[in-house]
Amino acid sequence: MMRLQFITYFTWLDEELVTVPNFPAWVCDVCGKREYDERAVNWLTTLLSPNAGQTTLPNPPRRRVPPSRRGQNRPTSTE
Ligand SMILES: [Zn+2]
Repeated sequence: MMRLQFITYFTWLDEELVTVPNFPAWVCDVCGKREYDERAVNWLTTLLSPNAGQTTLPNPPRRRVPPSRRGQNRPTSTE
């Protein structure tokens, strides 16, 4: 059962670890898996994008974003 909770989202922007408190995510109350709200992730990605913001980085930012899971069959799922 996935429930909407507000957690702290972690992502890498260039060499900086960015934390976003109170980020909406769907958390499974059975196995504890987290699936960040897709719209919120898109919003944050746009917000952090050098093309959309005021920052002009020489290199594109390297982000480590948790793999998106959209409810397809997951062989490794424990649900
Ligand atoms: Zn689960």
